[in-house]
Amino acid sequence: MIKSINDFNFKNHKVLVRVDFNVPLNSKLEITDNKRIVASLPTIDKIINDGGMPILMSHLGRPDGVKNPNYSLKSVASYLRKRGYDVHFANDCIGEEAVKTVSEAKYGEVVLLENLRFHKEEEKNDDNFANELAKLGDCYVNDAFGTAHRAHASTYQLATKFQDRFCGMLLKSELDYLDSIVKTPRRPFVAVLGGAKISGKIDVVNNLMDKCDDILIGGGMIFTFFKAMGLEIGKSILEPDRIEMAKQILEKVREKGINIHFPADVVVAKQFKNEAISRNIGRNQLEPDDIGLDIGKTTQKLYRSILESAETVLWNGPMGVYEMPNFAAGTMAIAKGMARATEKGATTIVGGGDSAAALKELGYEKKVSHVSTGGGATLEYLEGKELPGIAALEI
Ligand code: AMP
Repeated sequence: MIKSINDFNFKNHKVLVRVDFNVPLNSKLEITDNKRIVASLPTIDKIINDGGMPILMSHLGRPDGVKNPNYSLKSVASYLRKRGYDVHFANDCIGEEAVKTVSEAKYGEVVLLENLRFHKEEEKNDDNFANELAKLGDCYVNDAFGTAHRAHASTYQLATKFQDRFCGMLLKSELDYLDSIVKTPRRPFVAVLGGAKISGKIDVVNNLMDKCDDILIGGGMIFTFFKAMGLEIGKSILEPDRIEMAKQILEKVREKGINIHFPADVVVAKQFKNEAISRNIGRNQLEPDDIGLDIGKTTQKLYRSILESAETVLWNGPMGVYEMPNFAAGTMAIAKGMARATEKGATTIVGGGDSAAALKELGYEKKVSHVSTGGGATLEYLEGKELPGIAALEI
């Protein structure tokens, strides 16, 4: 069983809260997208309103165990202050500095600890490091969906130190969404999978194969499948060590009659740049110097129509090199299909990472039911794996 923070009163409690404040910063160290911070505010507010003290812990970027001002969480402290929170910032997440900062804060105020990954022990799931963190509080909350697939000191070892350990509101809502679509989807249930490589998605395809009514495949990974089908793929992205795996999936699809769709046509160019002259051609018409950059128009239309009559949709990975406007139409078609399905009452979910960024760039972020805050965590969940950060909360 996992306890929710809504079943507990945090009055006079010092609450260690693992949040995901891994936000993008520009060269002036300003936050360029605050979605992840905003997503954890309900959990922080609940603890404050109860009369408790949230002690916020997060990583930011990959400082690899070294203190580096470019990865400081100070910008997040400023952001929270601007939103009206009384924030005490500790320049180190453990040791004297952290203990002092917590002792100076009052209940109803917020403590924000400096980047956990300034200590290499964090990513090593180190027990001593977890003990140092544990000294600061008297109970634990995990609200960091984005790192739930990692067994790190703050997401795993630290949780096990407290009998009072809880799932935060963001984490709960992310899990509820995923559970609802994977365990009891309204049908038709359609998954759209794209992105650069087949390697990160193959286990997802395998796991969803028996659960979905249709799987729509796009992105760079189609070319490894095309190669496995014996087609010419020119200079398109290829993972030679995955061709065998792609063949096995194609075999399974044939045997079981599963509805996995591969593009019938693609958009290609001779150069990997937006201004390159492009052609929309059948998938068996690539020339040896062609680069496949998007799914073709016929495929876009078909995928869109399948999506528009779906009741549940899950999308992970762009259909083409959407960063170049001339090759964004395939990804746009998916965004439009999902928006239409949502309007008609379907539950539509976008796994984080690149598909979330694409959706935002195309202006469709608000037109789907849910955009996840964790790309890697969503994928591992969809592969059917247990997420360590969730397992550690079990009582
Ligand atoms: P992923 O992180 O695996 O979801 O991949 C996202 C990236 O895949 C984006 O940066 C896209 O530009 C890229 N991508 C999509 N389609 C293609 C393609 N046909 N060739 C190369 N890269 C692609």
